[in-house]
Amino acid sequence: MSEIKESKTWCPLPWIFQAVRNNGDLRVCCQANTAESRGLLLKEDGSVFNANHDDLLESRNSSVLKKVRLDMLAGRDPEPCLRCQREDSCQIISRRHYEKENWAHHIDFDKAKKWTREDGSIDLRQSPAVYFDLRFGNLCNLKCRMCGPTDSNKWFGDQVALWGPKFWDSHGEVELVETSAGRFKTKNADYDWIDSPNFWNQIDQMASEIRHIQVVGGEPLLIQKHYDLLEKIIERSDASQVTVEYNSNVTTIPDRAWKIWKNFGRVMIGASVDGIGKVDEYIRYPSRWPEIEANLDRLDKEPGPFRVWLAATIQVYNALHLPDFIQWKFEKNFERINNNDRRPILNTHPLHNPKFLNLKALPPLYKMKVEKRYSDYLLELEQWMQRQDYVPERIAFYKGAVEKLLAGYVTYMNESDWSPELEKFWYYTVELDRLRGQSLKETVPELYESVAKFLGKAEEMAHSTPTLY
Ligand code: SF4
Repeated sequence: MSEIKESKTWCPLPWIFQAVRNNGDLRVCCQANTAESRGLLLKEDGSVFNANHDDLLESRNSSVLKKVRLDMLAGRDPEPCLRCQREDSCQIISRRHYEKENWAHHIDFDKAKKWTREDGSIDLRQSPAVYFDLRFGNLCNLKCRMCGPTDSNKWFGDQVALWGPKFWDSHGEVELVETSAGRFKTKNADYDWIDSPNFWNQIDQMASEIRHIQVVGGEPLLIQKHYDLLEKIIERSDASQVTVEYNSNVTTIPDRAWKIWKNFGRVMIGASVDGIGKVDEYIRYPSRWPEIEANLDRLDKEPGPFRVWLAATIQVYNALHLPDFIQWKFEKNFERINNNDRRPILNTHPLHNPKFLNLKALPPLYKMKVEKRYSDYLLELEQWMQRQDYVPERIAFYKGAVEKLLAGYVTYMNESDWSPELEKFWYYTVELDRLRGQSLKETVPELYESVAKFLGKAEEMAHSTPTLY
């Protein structure tokens, strides 16, 4: 192995982590979804390791993970880690940065080098999986616009209406069939791996080692089996040493969650919220903003081991709205939510796929409008902070943080011109609006007009009877 002292591409996850997709397939980590290989862990025969029927330990020394480790130790960019590379190149804080900080007490580059054999494998007793990312199926109460049927069963009906009854997931084609109640369900048990005794027997053996468990759905707080796992951890180990982390849409927080959380050392909640009011409701359909805001207010104040942040996906629909969202965050003056030096405003990440919802797909003139809005907002924010009597150091700190956040998105957005994707965007948006009784024209009129003009739809519509809006 080449002897380098540091590596910009090093990340602790391939040494300590186990990640399970919604359908049970195992992968390097969720960020790897952007790469062509999707970071799937493959067996010798080319099929994907799956929590439903395979050995979780064996997957941790699969050929994919061995190569990722060797690449990282040699300072090369591993193929599955494309998303972190892209984000780093735009000065957006990528996952590998914060995971390095989060796990610095447990593993660093030198330790990783020591623990890794020539072929990239590791001793699984010396480096057990202490961190799990478990996507417990796809049960969800929302069907967000940038999501799809692999992550939300609520999407099934719209999937059939838009693209037909079949879709692709990492384990192959999934077929939807209509139930007698006129709804849709999968023909096979594609997302039911959490009922598998194979998984539960193995997790039973590992429960005492777990230090951090990230639970994602679907909507994890609605998935009862995840509470069973938390109870198992409480039985098997000192739960006060364990962190439970969620990506949740925070539309519903059941009593069972509030009760069980009190046993854990830390409860971290990334609240998936993409804007305020009608913008969030439009993207995250059929959520209701007042319920989300009330749950955020409770999460901000409830006594307990909470760390909460707003996890916003920045995409075509909310690009122009981002300054309003940031301003709302300032005015809420939360005690806990994003109240830290590392991410003092919002935790944001750019949407990578589908390409037609990616910021890069925006019409060139709209990109200029977004850029101008961001630079105007910096001045507005400074004046607002002065009116609140913030001290100059505080003004400089927040202004710097917002400037950096917005500049990262301007760089990312302008990196490429994907506007040929806008035909797909138009079809998709118009059809979803029709199916859901929503309206882009009413929600983000500037975006609607800009895309319509770019595609020549505005003229077309002026000469015909509009049926959709
Ligand atoms: S570098 Fe990024 S994509 Fe790769 S394992 Fe780490 S967090 Fe995941």
